[in-house]
Amino acid sequence: MLAVLLFGPPGAGKGTQAAAVAAASGVPHIATGDMFREHLRSGSELGRLARSYMDRGELVPDDVTIGMLEARLDQPDAARGFVLDGFPRTLDQASALDALLARRGTRVSGVLDIEVHGEELVRRLSGRMVCREASHPSHVTDAPPAVPGICDIDGSELYHRDDDHEDVIRNRVAVFEQETRPVREHYRELGTPIATIDGARERAEVEADVIAAVLALEDT
Ligand SMILES: [Zn+2]
Repeated sequence: MLAVLLFGPPGAGKGTQAAAVAAASGVPHIATGDMFREHLRSGSELGRLARSYMDRGELVPDDVTIGMLEARLDQPDAARGFVLDGFPRTLDQASALDALLARRGTRVSGVLDIEVHGEELVRRLSGRMVCREASHPSHVTDAPPAVPGICDIDGSELYHRDDDHEDVIRNRVAVFEQETRPVREHYRELGTPIATIDGARERAEVEADVIAAVLALEDT
């Protein structure tokens, strides 16, 4: 069982890298954000439960997310393992994940820690734009559209999402340092293999290192 966690701050490119790891190792990429949206859209029991908290403006309890994750791990494509992206974000979530995996006779095989320093994250995220029509991503400097302010794919207007403004980004990075950083320490203390990867390079270079780290985990 290959149970890999993608770890890193917002803007480190975890989603992109998780997809590459999944393709290279043949296990599914499980993004908890996508999993949530799917349950909300399908109106599953867990989705309705999550909605009831969101409608009251409350945080969805971890056991709801864990329930969704458990259901996802029961799918046949996850029998050999998974690459998890977006979870755990707190020590409590890490403990809940460990307990879930222990019930299934397994544990986290490795952590891929994609390191990107704060100023680079601000540069990346504050330059990010998405289109009105379909949220196609572009970037002012890293992936500029052919016509400034216009989506290359559908011609609709590009805009900055509210959570991609600089003060919001700095806050998200601070929350990561305070609440999520200890998750790495938790796995280090457990003796879980951790591969630290410099995420401030070209995407292809980061991807090569990430894939090499996962193949090394598969061999152990
Ligand atoms: Zn578009």
